[in-house]
Amino acid sequence: MSASIEKIRNIGIIAHIDAGKTTTTERILYYAGVVHRPGGVDEGTTATDFDAEEAKRGITIYSAAITCHWKGYSINIIDTPGHVDFTAEVERSLRVLDGAVVVFSAMEGVEAQSETVWRQADKYNVPRICFINKMDRIGASFDRTFQEIKKRLRANPVALQIPIGEGSTSTGVSFEGVIDLIKMKSLYYDSESMGAKFEVGEIADEYLEQAQEWRSKMLEAVAELDEKVLEQYYETEDIPEEDLLRLLREATLNGTLQPTFCGSSLNYIGVQPVLDAVGEFLPSPLDRPPVEGINPQPKKRNAEAGEPTSRAPSVDEPMCGLVFKIQADKHGDLCFIRVYSGQLKSGSRLLNARTGKKELISQLWRVHADAREKVETDCIDAGDIAGVIGPKEAVTGDTLCDIKHPILLESITFPETVISMAVEPESSADRKKLEETLKKLSRQDPTFKAVTNEETGQTIVSGMGELHLEVLRNRMQKEFNLSVRVHKPRVSYRETVTAVTEKEVEFNRPSSGGDLYFKVKLRLEPFEGDVPVSILSSLKPGELDPELHKVMM
Ligand code: GDP
Repeated sequence: MSASIEKIRNIGIIAHIDAGKTTTTERILYYAGVVHRPGGVDEGTTATDFDAEEAKRGITIYSAAITCHWKGYSINIIDTPGHVDFTAEVERSLRVLDGAVVVFSAMEGVEAQSETVWRQADKYNVPRICFINKMDRIGASFDRTFQEIKKRLRANPVALQIPIGEGSTSTGVSFEGVIDLIKMKSLYYDSESMGAKFEVGEIADEYLEQAQEWRSKMLEAVAELDEKVLEQYYETEDIPEEDLLRLLREATLNGTLQPTFCGSSLNYIGVQPVLDAVGEFLPSPLDRPPVEGINPQPKKRNAEAGEPTSRAPSVDEPMCGLVFKIQADKHGDLCFIRVYSGQLKSGSRLLNARTGKKELISQLWRVHADAREKVETDCIDAGDIAGVIGPKEAVTGDTLCDIKHPILLESITFPETVISMAVEPESSADRKKLEETLKKLSRQDPTFKAVTNEETGQTIVSGMGELHLEVLRNRMQKEFNLSVRVHKPRVSYRETVTAVTEKEVEFNRPSSGGDLYFKVKLRLEPFEGDVPVSILSSLKPGELDPELHKVMM
């Protein structure tokens, strides 16, 4: 089923680890009918964490792109990891998203990674809604978390819901449901149907005053956005629902405010209103500015390389799209592409604007977590996301575009790797296999690098943290049937010394002690001065450049 562009929502669910992104995503998939039973993070049965490694650890590592349908909207969800080792994954997702749901824990409030992902979303101007989850936890507080979002994130949350009760006591869960501040109704969720059914009722007397206060705050925030509505609000102390929804949408899209909801995904409370809000308040691809790029290889006489060019999100424009993830698949690598303009058609050939080579688009797939379905129409329109089989050379961040209308979109930038290890196959017969495996893994994961150290001959892999490298090592075992040993690189420290005179030669001992390696490049002149004898004795004119000298100090 392909939706018209204004009904498409490309969203991410972002948060600090453990805030409940995966559980919330699971509930969404359940209500949207993608899965027949919601999976549990704690049982390792979720649909988004389909990678065995993720299920085992209970964290989300790789962004899984999933399509679901809700009340006429086609929602592409990119589940993103919260662990600090995988921040680059979040960054790449944000690049291709139009909107985000930011999940907070009502108990922990705004956490370190909530701040990081919030800033990343700011960087890409991604409109957001907030979901304050875990309202059932002991010590949970809606108001405290709401204030933290305001202060620590310098955001402008506007509550569209408040909780009915919060936290738990020794006798049970006190959080019972939510109050919808737009309709001024209570919503109680039925646990038997895992929240699929819920009752809409009048607000209990004990919560009425509180609900009215919060609603007034919401109305004031919205009235401020429009002079006419403000006047009307002063007169009537109310805003018609139609105006309210329109202004909330406009302000969410331009980043002025963030509609805020609450619930407990684990207890099946309050997830559907978040899904409703994704359609109601988050942008369609049409609400986003045209995508900007440059002309990589001008054909026209007057065109200059690097000339800025842009594409509107329309099927009538020439095709352009960005590869934002490459995932291993039984039948070959699956490239996830965000189509910005034109149509992506199976059987077509596109230009890879980075390499200048043509890539074949063999098949188009829509991905529902671990299941996938071939796109019947063999065509994906501007604004949508699809998995593609065929491209051989494309890597994450590449632009694929119409051959006659080239455009190079700004690539996705990845941070430098922070940790390195030496890796070798358990069996020396697997050297070639190791090489091929590392090549595949680094194509799929741009924050993973593998190089051969010229001097020691060791294969050095580097990544974003210990967890990152460990996960990749386990993938080598499981996906590629390759056992490897990892250890510290033999060379712990190396200094390249280019000396013009002896005074410019500096020798530093590594703080960890151990061997010190110098690559000495000397312009050989009579060598005198305060250079240690052990070095001088190993330096002989004519032998030095570019040999490696090991110096014991
Ligand atoms: P993620 O790391 O953000 O994806 O978080 P998960 O969805 O994996 O959840 C982390 C932990 O919090 C798991 O043990 C969940 O069962 C638990 N959890 C998620 N949502 C809730 C909730 O609403 N209430 C409570 N009490 N626990 C929750």
